[in-house]
Amino acid sequence: MKVLTDRLTESPTEIAFAVTPAWWKERCGADQELAEGLRSALATRIRAYRAGEDLYLEGEVAGTLELACGRCLTRYRHPVRERFRLVLEPAGSRVPADPEGAAALVRDGVYLSDEPGSGWFRGSEIDLGSLIQELIALAFPVQPLCREDCRGLCPHCGADRNAESCECSEVRPDSPFAALRALRDRPRGGGER
Ligand SMILES: [Zn+2]
Ligand SMILES: [Zn+2]
Repeated sequence: MKVLTDRLTESPTEIAFAVTPAWWKERCGADQELAEGLRSALATRIRAYRAGEDLYLEGEVAGTLELACGRCLTRYRHPVRERFRLVLEPAGSRVPADPEGAAALVRDGVYLSDEPGSGWFRGSEIDLGSLIQELIALAFPVQPLCREDCRGLCPHCGADRNAESCECSEVRPDSPFAALRALRDRPRGGGER
């Protein structure tokens, strides 16, 4: 995901990358859940131009994630469209105060500061891989749901309640209604048959 900085001019250059599942897997390392989420390539489009010494990058990452629903475990398709804007100043001889940022500037030629959307660049080639990786990771929902009203799996028998109804009680044993039900269900007139 390299951008050649010294080729950029004041008129915007369009740059496109495909984020492939193979690239994503490698980036995710041991995080299986993230790694499994990308089964088809995402498209990254960037408009890059120069304004004075600074570089302006505007882009988006778009496509579809494949996630496991947190309630019913079904895999479903989750559309993503993450936009970003970045203004990068030449780093010159400056070194970022945080070690991670300093390492990124050496490795990628880019350092993103605490202020959103701004940072420094160095050299004739910058690598946006880390930025793209972070954008995609942020697009993963905290609680993935196949649909808003997914009814999930029955906690007793495991039936998919979106597809079938089971015989299990709808009343959870810990709910206040459970006590009422116990009263109601108590056999009257004494004695069990
Ligand atoms: Zn679901
Ligand atoms: Zn059930």
